[in-house]
Amino acid sequence: MPYKSEDIYKTIPELPAKITAKKKKPRLMAVIDEDSCTGCQVCVPFCPVDCIESVPKDKYDIAIPPVQVRYDECIGCQICARVCTKLTWDAIRMLPIAEFEVTYDIQITDGPVKKP
Ligand code: SF4
Ligand code: SF4
Repeated sequence: MPYKSEDIYKTIPELPAKITAKKKKPRLMAVIDEDSCTGCQVCVPFCPVDCIESVPKDKYDIAIPPVQVRYDECIGCQICARVCTKLTWDAIRMLPIAEFEVTYDIQITDGPVKKP
């Protein structure tokens, strides 16, 4: 069967119509593999709660740092992982929330995040 690029692009998620916020604890958590992330930021505008950002400049002294997820805001929608896999590099893993909390010793709140 001939290869058609539009077949690939059809499966890319839509950009969010508006930015929302977490309401309850998610079932999955997005974790960036910093060694694989190119820092391209293609995933950033697709996140419906806008919780993906570049790692702080003081963590790595490099021109284009990888991105990180503000874990307590993530709703586990998997959109970033699909976008990264389809459009760039496959640098995002979705972990079951219990596994994430044990592995990273981080407790995710079961409700909206209070922002300063
Ligand atoms: S799309 Fe993938 S490679 Fe690009 S910044 Fe996001 S996680 Fe990193
Ligand atoms: S899974 Fe990815 S796109 Fe979805 S809320 Fe979490 S960081 Fe954002």
